[in-house]
Amino acid sequence: RSKDQGGGAHNQYEPKLHVHAEERRVMEIALRKALDNDEFSLNYQPVVSADTGGVMGFEALLRWTNPEFGIVSPAKFIPLAEDARLIVPIGEWVMRTACKEAMKWPATVKIAVNVSADQLTDPSFLDMVVSALHDSELPAQRLEIEVTESIFMREGTGATQVLDQIIGLGINLSLDDFGTGYSSLGYLRKTRFSTIKVDRSFVQGAAKKVPESLAIIRAVVAMADSLGMTTTAEGAETEEEVKMIQKLGCSKIQGYYFGRPMASHDALELFKDHNPDTLKIDDRAA
Ligand code: C2E
Ligand code: MG
Ligand code: MG
Ligand code: MG
Repeated sequence: RSKDQGGGAHNQYEPKLHVHAEERRVMEIALRKALDNDEFSLNYQPVVSADTGGVMGFEALLRWTNPEFGIVSPAKFIPLAEDARLIVPIGEWVMRTACKEAMKWPATVKIAVNVSADQLTDPSFLDMVVSALHDSELPAQRLEIEVTESIFMREGTGATQVLDQIIGLGINLSLDDFGTGYSSLGYLRKTRFSTIKVDRSFVQGAAKKVPESLAIIRAVVAMADSLGMTTTAEGAETEEEVKMIQKLGCSKIQGYYFGRPMASHDALELFKDHNPDTLKIDDRAA
């Protein structure tokens, strides 16, 4: 009980953890050993240009495979890692691994890394990022850091100053899952995001011609345009969704239609016979 209360106010805004107390406890013990036991891996999902279909980058998505629990969804173990204060070391592993992997790709291809609020407010976060870039030799311009709206709920923690410092390093900042969280537009005035990622729920709605979804995507695209930001549509699975997104003017698309999150060697394989601009992902088998 007390653990739940100590977990931080962000829990009410982020995906709920559907794990019972006992399972949660056992899983937390396993999670504590997961880094040492080499149980984490990263999958990479392509982000393509809405105009050309060319690959602009990949998003790194963390996977945990445990002998007892099998493959655990990040929706389940990330909140657990946050509550157990394991997200900082795990996040460092993600950042270092993703930067190193991106160095194997063509120089135009970016890597996006998800960062949770607990990481941003860790005093060593910026040093860690600088060190990951330095050690991997990845140029800052090729790194994108994705944060969700929930970070703006952390008044007084210095989270927004850290965002400014990230931008100061030349790293691109993306606002993930836009439209699903705390929705005040004030922070878009304060923080210069490069990209707004429109949540999949709006993409689905737009393809079904739900008027509210259409209106919201149009408004986000217009706003991003006038603020000098780009937009990425998340979770496009069907041709209808892709066509609608293109019509609505989002700059980039990410979703199963173009590619599922894939193992590092499969991502690398994509570049074997193609350069990223001409690379069209035809493997649309679900
Ligand atoms: P996210 O950052 O919004 O990542 C996109 C999620 O949508 C991924 O789920 C991806 O597999 C899924 N997705 C992509 N295209 C489609 C599609 O066409 N249809 C559907 N139904 N889903 C699609 P995943 O990998 O399960 O990750 C869930 C969330 O876990 C991520 O959402 C992110 O918030 C968090 N996460 C993942 N890796 C990390 C990490 O390294 N660090 C942190 N802090 N969070 C992470
Ligand atoms: Mg993301
Ligand atoms: Mg997202
Ligand atoms: Mg999402």
